Amino acid sequence: MSRVAIVTGAARGIGAATAQRLAGDGLAVAVLDLDEGACADTVKAIESAGGRALAVGADVADADQVAAAVSRVAAELGPPTVLVNNAGVIRDNLLFKMSDDDWDTVLRVHLRGAFLCSRAAQAYMTQERWGRIVNLSSTSALGNRGQANYAAAKAGMQGFTKTLAIELGPFGVTVNAVAPGFIVTEMTAATAARMGVPFENFQTAAAAEIPVRRVGQPADVAHTVSFLASEGASFVSGQVIYVAGGPRA
Ligand code: NAP
Repeated sequence: MSRVAIVTGAARGIGAATAQRLAGDGLAVAVLDLDEGACADTVKAIESAGGRALAVGADVADADQVAAAVSRVAAELGPPTVLVNNAGVIRDNLLFKMSDDDWDTVLRVHLRGAFLCSRAAQAYMTQERWGRIVNLSSTSALGNRGQANYAAAKAGMQGFTKTLAIELGPFGVTVNAVAPGFIVTEMTAATAARMGVPFENFQTAAAAEIPVRRVGQPADVAHTVSFLASEGASFVSGQVIYVAGGPRA
């Protein structure tokens, strides 16, 4: 029986690439996103490559929806022992313009979402005495103008990761974070659009500041998640791996 992974926010971007990569590694993958219908492309890509996938609609920050989604994955694919907490949103604004809703929405999806999904999935992992949780942090955790909410959430993901590593380690469960820099997705495209800069120019300017002189692709992050989810990574836990083409943003 192959292992079962849940990847949240997997309808597109980094989550979609990670779901496809884990399926390529031989896992059955629950492709979870807000709208079940939006997961169809990722599921189709996995199935046409010979993998096994299930589309699951849920808001990661809603406790009842998360509980139902995780139970459904267990019933239809098997006990989920790999969880990638990837779902995310941005609501950038300078502090003096940041609304209560900007703050709450970002903290809710990233932190409450990772908390609820991890709490639901750990029941299966501890029972199986094997598990992998990978949380998406960001170079923004180190501070980024206009992202007080997002930076707080992504720094919070790092503390959450290290604490779960301590609590779940005795059960054979590792917990790590991946902290991407600039990755080409709809999220960075939206940032460029908001700043009124063509996405191509935005990428070129970003690449010039990155030591490896290119921007990242979703597959760069998926590759790192694949390593952390692998059998051989059982002695790596509580770590934050920056996937940013250099040591910092
Ligand atoms: P993306 O293209 O915007 O995709 C995010 C996905 O998450 C979307 O499909 C979105 O669905 C889904 N989502 C949002 N809220 C959700 C919720 N409450 N429940 C379930 N799904 C939800 O973003 P991305 O660039 O791939 O980013 C993925 C992760 O990497 C995020 O955690 C992000 O913060 C992190 N990250 C990204 C970058 C980067 O440069 N792109 C850098 C560092 C870290 P909808 O479309 O329905 O909203």
